[in-house]
Amino acid sequence: MTTGLLATPLQFLKGVGPRRAADLERVGLLTVEDLLYRFPIRYEDRSHLQAIASLRPGHVVSIAGRISSCGLRMTRRPGFKIFEALISDTSGSIRATWLNQPFLRDVFTAGQHVVLFGPAEMRGHGGLQLTNPQYEILDDEEGETIHTGRIVPVYEKTGSVTAKMQRRLVHDALEQVPTDLPDPLPESVRLRHSLPSRHAALLAAHFPPEDVSVEILNRFATPAQRRLIFEEAFLFQSGILARRRSAMHEAKPVTVRVDDRVRESARKILPFKLTAGQRQALKEIVEDLQRSQPMNRLLQGDVGVGKTIVALLAALVAMENGLQVAFMAPTEILAEQHFISISRLLQTSRFRVALLTGSTSAAARRALLAEIESGAVRLVVGTHALVQEDVTFKQLGLVVIDEQHRFGVLQRATLRSKGLRPDVLVMTATPIPRTLALTVYGDLDVSVIRDSPPGRLPVRTVAKPESRRDEVYAFVRQQLDEGRQAYVIYPLVEESEKIDLKAATEMADHLAQEVFPQYRVGLLHGRLKPDAKDRVMKAFASGELQLLVSTTVVEVGVDVPNASVMLVEHAERFGLSQLHQLRGRVGRDRHQSFCFLLYQSPLSAEARERLRAMTETTDGFEIAERDLMLRGTGDFFGTRQAGLATFRLIDLVRDRECLELARREAGAWLDASAPTSATISRLVDAWEQRFRLIEIG
Ligand code: ADP
Ligand code: MG
Repeated sequence: MTTGLLATPLQFLKGVGPRRAADLERVGLLTVEDLLYRFPIRYEDRSHLQAIASLRPGHVVSIAGRISSCGLRMTRRPGFKIFEALISDTSGSIRATWLNQPFLRDVFTAGQHVVLFGPAEMRGHGGLQLTNPQYEILDDEEGETIHTGRIVPVYEKTGSVTAKMQRRLVHDALEQVPTDLPDPLPESVRLRHSLPSRHAALLAAHFPPEDVSVEILNRFATPAQRRLIFEEAFLFQSGILARRRSAMHEAKPVTVRVDDRVRESARKILPFKLTAGQRQALKEIVEDLQRSQPMNRLLQGDVGVGKTIVALLAALVAMENGLQVAFMAPTEILAEQHFISISRLLQTSRFRVALLTGSTSAAARRALLAEIESGAVRLVVGTHALVQEDVTFKQLGLVVIDEQHRFGVLQRATLRSKGLRPDVLVMTATPIPRTLALTVYGDLDVSVIRDSPPGRLPVRTVAKPESRRDEVYAFVRQQLDEGRQAYVIYPLVEESEKIDLKAATEMADHLAQEVFPQYRVGLLHGRLKPDAKDRVMKAFASGELQLLVSTTVVEVGVDVPNASVMLVEHAERFGLSQLHQLRGRVGRDRHQSFCFLLYQSPLSAEARERLRAMTETTDGFEIAERDLMLRGTGDFFGTRQAGLATFRLIDLVRDRECLELARREAGAWLDASAPTSATISRLVDAWEQRFRLIEIG
């Protein structure tokens, strides 16, 4: 898809030496194509040249004129130099000054034609002047400007490569791009949506024509920008779809069948009636299991909706078909918890369940490994220890991964390579807005459970300033008096872990001795050894401790149904999704539960929005939407989260509709063009290269 020019390494461009090439490479800019597919961060209107005589202070202006005189001026402050130039046009003249840029001495000379862009300011006796203006020296009076006198693209500075240098590089590169540049967008699709050609779009996205509105440019909504965004979306979506089609040829070694015997076996272990959402998700999963191609499914559902039982029923179906199942959790505590509840549920079944974690003793581990290899153990619950090299399965058919956000992608890949193309079910309690899930999880299918088991009461959430701490304590005491338990969470600020730890330790002491002397208080923090952590968590789970102070976020997914209070200290420091996760630790039983968000005033506008969202809704998807809007995509997903595509132009919030349109168009195009398997695999290769998407599962 690339022509020679686009594939050219940047060091071959004029003005790019090894140092600049290295700086550019650091931000992923290797080729001319990379450079051209990096939008300016914004656009500035520097057109509308003004007559010097008409300038007024307090405005950012563009002027064109001739340098009458210029030179370096010392100031009274030692080491402080000012470069001054006097610029004249037919209407008058004005002074321009640059602070501490003595090298300008070698840039400007009298007689040059220049265009300047910058703020016009009143400076004491000196009158009106331009302060630190952007400048461009013209070869002659009529010359084309690229830095001034037009709508100018502003690029993000990268190392030693300034915005201005990039503008020059982009400009030079664009001059060499052939007008008949091959276009990866099918012509029919392009014309249907009235999108400009690739060549025209590249030109106009970087150096917009005069008549384009800067406001539309800065929303990245001009036809040129939209076309390039759509191009990326189309390539992404057609790659996903192609990959899915090519997977259709990878048959699983064992096809799962569901008959009355399997159904009866599932019914026997089911302790309650599934909700409609659980039934639907299970149906989708079991349909996948029965297909001849491996499943790659994400099961999304807010904390407490009951994902585990759904996964376990799927596991049962696999086991009834002679397959083994690996059930992975991100922490030992969670693995143990799953192990206990799964063992209980499978008690009456004939399948053996085992737990394998980092703390399994060497001898037990050896015995267990043999039983996994022989197939005697049918379901293994574990942590990442499960994917260590020496674990061999006899017939691994299904891998369930809980709370995938905390799981390394490579670990999943290793595990996957152990079985013969196992089905993979990834569960997450971090709801991703639906439209995003479709696209950011690459080729995962998505099932969503939105309803909750019957009888659950939504958690009541209250935000209070710290000054009203006593009221909150009084309330917590009431809950403890009624036999409930409570969490108190401290934020963790990485730079000052020690201080946080101290604060939390003191707080735990204070709560234990002065506030709740009649109750037992435990402390959990990141510095504790795993087994110490475990002991505290277990003591809380068993009710031995009534109040748990924790610096680390209480392990995602930990289930202590009797806990009815979540008190978050410094709630203003937590992200919205994080707060929601914390709140999900309570409200897991019939009791009314409460979430108190104690904050320190004054609140930033964003923190206020976060707390407001928390008190207004308990719907995880709504929270996710709002979080995304508040934080933008980068922060929402963390930097470069593994398993997510890396886009060059697409902004997942801004361009959601475009992504959906591209998905429809890509599907229709693949159907219509019926590509050969060679074309499909080329598409898949290009897709993997381009989006550097790491395989999930
Ligand atoms: P999560 O989706 O957060 O993993 P769990 O699977 O841990 O949720 O389920 C939360 C609790 O709800 C568990 O105690 C589970 O036994 C219970 N539960 C799940 N589904 C139902 C249901 N349909 N009816 C009643 N209780 C249920
Ligand atoms: Mg769970």
